[in-house]
Amino acid sequence: MTQLFGLGLSGIRAALAPYRVPAYRARQIAAWMYQKGAGSFDVMTDLSKALRAVLSQSLAIGRPHVKDRLISADGRTQKFLLGLADGIAVETVLMRQPYGNSVCVSTQAGCNMGCAFCASTLKGLSRNLTSGEILAQAIVINDMLREADEGKVDTVVIMGSGEPLMNYDNVLEFIHLMHEEYTLGMSYRSITLSTSGIVEGMRRLAEEGIPLSLSVSLHAPNQSLRERIMPIARRYPLADVIAAAKHYAAVTKRRLTYEYILIDGVTDGEEQMRELADLLHGQLASVNLIPINPVAQRGFLRPSPERIARFERYLARRRIAVTVRREMGADIQAACGQLRNKHL
Ligand code: SAH
Repeated sequence: MTQLFGLGLSGIRAALAPYRVPAYRARQIAAWMYQKGAGSFDVMTDLSKALRAVLSQSLAIGRPHVKDRLISADGRTQKFLLGLADGIAVETVLMRQPYGNSVCVSTQAGCNMGCAFCASTLKGLSRNLTSGEILAQAIVINDMLREADEGKVDTVVIMGSGEPLMNYDNVLEFIHLMHEEYTLGMSYRSITLSTSGIVEGMRRLAEEGIPLSLSVSLHAPNQSLRERIMPIARRYPLADVIAAAKHYAAVTKRRLTYEYILIDGVTDGEEQMRELADLLHGQLASVNLIPINPVAQRGFLRPSPERIARFERYLARRRIAVTVRREMGADIQAACGQLRNKHL
């Protein structure tokens, strides 16, 4: 059985080639899969019964299924566990933001970046997700929103488990698929990719010619502290990450965001705020402060609201555009750094 779900138009056409059907059939099938929630050929009523019967003999849709769904107490965040063909399951988060429905997709089952504050890396990397498996996360949630008459997926953040630039080709194909009119027709600007600073991936991304929003997980204002909490920093020194980020902003003319985690007594001190302001002074970039979310195995603490506010005020005074990330879904372990892969 060939599975169609996750293929782009050319892939669907190739799968249909043996049947000698007109080219527009591929587009019809894509729309059924990606816009109308079809799980089988049976429901594709604009295809003849005979054709549907023939196709289902050797082709299948193969939609990943929702194994579990958790809803936060305030109802604004939902976490989905999506079952993949080989038994691995990945987490995807829907956030109802003031500006619309935002979906956070995972790009790898697990992660091997080893960040000291993050749950996604606790069991290492299982495998890269295919472009179809990443697409499925957005489509499944879009279907659910449509059926509930709650709109559609408005923005996507590539901030779930995994390092997207370590799965470059599949992630890029996913981004292109999201933009196709037979899926969600999403603008590249509505998609944000977050990276722990994979320098060659950032440089490659700058050359793609798409106005994708980029976020860089900086988390520390100097090399030694960054190495302490992000082992990947040994391979990609801070100076190179900043240079690649500046290059991305210059080429794409997009404002870049640096994510900076606030860990009590580790990254939130006066010295760090000064160093951070010096480091970013004059860049076309903003800082998104992320007060750490608790991960039981990690033992880092969140700073007090006063310390968070002090850090924010200082950066603002130094004329750095700064926001504090709103925590969402911590009660269902759906907040930043709390996603993990599941072997079920
Ligand atoms: N690997 C990519 C994509 C994951 S994005 C990256 O590192 O950017 C997830 C974001 O949440 C990153 O900025 C990550 O550093 C941050 N994060 C990880 N653990 C966290 C925690 N415990 N609390 C708050 N944010 C966390």
